[in-house]
This record gives sequence, C-alpha cells and structure tokens, in this order.
Amino acid sequence: MGQIELKGISKFFKQEEVIKDLDLTIKDGSFTVLVGPSGCGKSTTLRMIAGLDDQSSGDIFIDGKRVNGVPPGMRDVAMVFQNYALYPTMSVHNNIEFGLINRKIPKKERETLIADIAEIVGLSDYMKKKPEMLSGGQRQRVALARAMVKKPEVFILDEPLSNLDAKLRHQMRTELIQLHKRLGTTFVYVTHDQVEAMSMGDEIVIMNKGVIQQAASPIELYHNPANRFAAQFIGTPAMNILPYKGIHFPSLSAKGKEEIGHFGFRPEHAQLHDGYDLKGEGLRISGEIVTRESLGAESIYQIQSSFGMFSVKTFLTPLMMNNMVTVTIPYEQLYY
Ligand code: ADP
Repeated sequence: MGQIELKGISKFFKQEEVIKDLDLTIKDGSFTVLVGPSGCGKSTTLRMIAGLDDQSSGDIFIDGKRVNGVPPGMRDVAMVFQNYALYPTMSVHNNIEFGLINRKIPKKERETLIADIAEIVGLSDYMKKKPEMLSGGQRQRVALARAMVKKPEVFILDEPLSNLDAKLRHQMRTELIQLHKRLGTTFVYVTHDQVEAMSMGDEIVIMNKGVIQQAASPIELYHNPANRFAAQFIGTPAMNILPYKGIHFPSLSAKGKEEIGHFGFRPEHAQLHDGYDLKGEGLRISGEIVTRESLGAESIYQIQSSFGMFSVKTFLTPLMMNNMVTVTIPYEQLYY
C-alpha cells in the first residue's frame, strides 16, 4: 500500500522557510501531481518524501509508518529525475539491473524481472546498448525501468519529461498514464506545466510559495477554484479577472455580495457576438478587438473594454481587428 501523509511539514534552508506547515494526504494508487511556478517548493516536497532531504519539522508517513529520519533506500520509494541519472558506461541491461543491487535476488530471478520490465517499457531490443546510443525517450524509459524493477510502493517523478521535445513529451505522457494504470502503484509527479498536470493527474496539488493553494481532481480545480491563484493557474489563457467598478448585476445582488471588488470568467466561456444575436442570458461586456492569435481551429482575442483587457477563446471564424464586439458570459460561468 502506498499512501503518503505529510503532517505539519515545514522546511527551512538557512533562514528561509520554503515549505510552510504543509498537510497533504496522497492516496494509495493515485496519480498525484504537484504543480506550481518554479521555486514554489515542489521538488523539496518530493525530496522529503523520498528521504533525500529532511523536513525541519512535521511528520511523514508512508503506508502508515512514520519515516522521519529513515534513509531513502529503506523507504520503498523509487525516484525518476529529469536528467535520467543513467550510468553512461553501463548497458541498458546493467542500468536496469542496478536498481536491484543490494536486494540479494538470485541471478535467474533477477533476469526474469529485468526482461519483464524491459518488455513493459519497450526496451527488449536495446538491452546491450549504452545510453549514448539511445534517443531521449528511450533513455527516459531506461530510467523508468530502473525504478520499476524495484517494484516500489511509491514512484516519485520529478519533471521527468522536461528534456524531451513536444511530440515525444506528449507520447510519454500517454505511456506514463498507461503505466500507472497497469502497475496500480502510487505516482507522485512534479511539473510546472499546468497542461501536463491536468492531462495526467487524477489528483492535483497546486502550490505557491511553499503553501498548498488547492488539492483536488482536475474537474474540481477547473470548475471550483479555491482562490484567485488556483483560478488563474489552471486554464489557457488564464481566467480573466476584472474589477466590477460599481456595475450592477442582478445575480450578485441576489447573493448579497457587495458590488465592489473583482469578478472572473474563463476565456472559453465568453460568447462572442459580432454585433448581432444577443439572445443568451448573462453579463454583457462590449469592447474592441485588439489582437487575435490563431490556434488553427480556435482563436484567442484580446478585447479592450471599459473594465480592462480580457481574453476570449472561440471557434468562430476570424473577426476583424478594431471591431467593436459584445460578449455574453452566462451568469453561471461567472466567479466572484
Ligand atoms: P520547485 O521544485 O517548485 O521549483 P524547489 O523545491 O526546488 O522548487 O525550491 C523551493 C525553494 O527552496 C526555492 O526558493 C529554492 O531556491 C530553495 N532551495 C531548494 N533547494 C535548496 C538548497 N539545497 N539550498 C538552499 N535553498 C534551496
């Protein structure tokens, strides 16, 4: 069983508190992604789970056992890093076998394990090759195989795909999702890329400045962000946040909110009208198209309104620049 619990974890580097009283439960068998801007404390959190760094205070439990001070090798956790950390002079076979060192497994059993894992990650034909003869994706698979061969309860992956090109990264994401399904092991995955987080995780932990902003499923994060940081971190382009500037909109009054402050909406929820067709219920905002970015099927418009600039993502055929347009945001898609 690979449940991980972090209770009241803080971490100081010299005087600086980089993790602040963090509480988190990572469910057994989940694919949990820690995501947040660079420097927010993701790697430090992973390293404390793995035992590579000690927390300054608090307790870590793996499978119900308190592991404070337990060295990495004794934690039933395997790590995969972005720089692979393969041994350049060893063959693929020996790199994978290295994961079994100190385990006193008889040679025959060891070979069966290695062959099985090589098959799973698609390396059977490359066992005699050295890492330098492999592509980036193949090297990453060797690193995965070396971690997998230990059959750990928990896999820890620190930005494992960031050295790969976009296409390969996409392919490896799918492979990792399938691998997770197949193994049923807990995966704890770190990335700064919210798209990667949303596409891979069944549980996502958004961090900022050493503090968890929200921990939830991708759907929950998208529909019910806990705060402004979480709202703007998830989604491309980011959620629009504009000041009310004293406007009156009925649903706000109905909820007893004061009509000052800010409201938000996602660019894909704003319906663009080209001067006509103003049927739908919702908040209407007019403005001028300032820029258009084409994504192929979709376009992203920046629109300057009296509330400020906002973005709209739409499948509509290209509209003219400098056109005045009106958008309708259905009331149920407004955040405030
Ligand atoms: P992330 O993985 O989210 O990019 P890190 O966990 O690597 O962030 O770093 C969190 C903070 O801790 C950063 O401000 C970083 O500079 C600092 N930090 C990380 N490792 C060390 C270290 N060994 N010594 C001093 N400061 C560190």
